[in-house]
Amino acid sequence: MGKINILEQDIASQIAAGEIIERPVSVVKELVENSIDAGSKNIIVEIEKGGKKSIRVIDDGEGISRDDIRLAFERHATSKINVIEDIFHINTLGFRGEALASIAAVSNLSVTTKTRNEPIGTICKISAGVIEDVSETASKNGCLIEVKNLFFNTPARLKFLSSDTHENSRITDLITRFAMGNINISFRLIIDKKELFYSSGNGDYREVIAKVYGMDLAKQILYIEKAFDNGKIWGYISKPSFNRGNRTGQTFFVNNRFVKDLGLTFCLERAYKTMIPIRRFPIAIIFIDIDNSLVDVNVHPSKMEIKFQNENQVHHALFHAINETLKNHVLIPKETLSI
Ligand code: ADP
Ligand code: MG
Repeated sequence: MGKINILEQDIASQIAAGEIIERPVSVVKELVENSIDAGSKNIIVEIEKGGKKSIRVIDDGEGISRDDIRLAFERHATSKINVIEDIFHINTLGFRGEALASIAAVSNLSVTTKTRNEPIGTICKISAGVIEDVSETASKNGCLIEVKNLFFNTPARLKFLSSDTHENSRITDLITRFAMGNINISFRLIIDKKELFYSSGNGDYREVIAKVYGMDLAKQILYIEKAFDNGKIWGYISKPSFNRGNRTGQTFFVNNRFVKDLGLTFCLERAYKTMIPIRRFPIAIIFIDIDNSLVDVNVHPSKMEIKFQNENQVHHALFHAINETLKNHVLIPKETLSI
């Protein structure tokens, strides 16, 4: 008698969900990415009790049609890629078709949605991955997704969540980064009925930077830009005199995707070396726009890690973009203003 069995479907989907949905902020990230991919102009995020009680994301994007609603919750169901070649040219934030299925597997979820062409909306309710009801309802154009009781059926995960305050601050941090990366979209974050963040989506960088880092920095921030063979680096960096005791002020977007990449971080810091005290860090919002066939975004299910085909070229351009801009500014006095 052998000892290998194939896992039951619901166990397998809980394991898969665990790779993407680690905590409330992962749900927020996936839902907001879907809202952005759907062409939304206004995105509202409402959180209760650190996201453990409920997470609502409301958008005015293209919505999900009645015909698609059940499919949207199937694993590997996506409207964003069709053929294998597509994964080498991804220009949407999502593409794996796993997020909705994963979130639904570990929560009580409801989606209320309507596309522009439909006369009436649809509401779909799912609990622990099982669709319980699909019916007609009044709805604005767009999507409202409500996720309640996250991890109610996976107590081991639930145990690993931090305090509401910690989970809230992770979510706030994420929304501010989305706002910086998408200045033409208005973001509103409401936590326990209080508005914590708002950006108007009017396309003004300084407005968003002022909201996130304060007016002093917004007034003094430096613009950088440098083209390289297959793309361009641009963004905003602090003068060396504005620095922080940690790296929370560093945000990188690669083709508009918020990424975490130590190589980019080190490159940024190397460009400030000797201009900034040790263990102090610059503030920077950097955009790398690169031919999307030269970057692999399919490194991890959370899609926050990327791999450049020619990493050296990108690092070189980033270093020089910053270094050249800073050199023109080191003529300023040496006093350090910490924020
Ligand atoms: P992916 O984003 O990788 O395609 P998801 O599981 O996140 O996979 O979403 C599945 C599909 O559901 C998407 O491809 C999209 O067609 C649809 N969808 C999800 N959220 C929204 C939304 N807010 N507005 C419109 N369509 C959505
Ligand atoms: Mg998605």
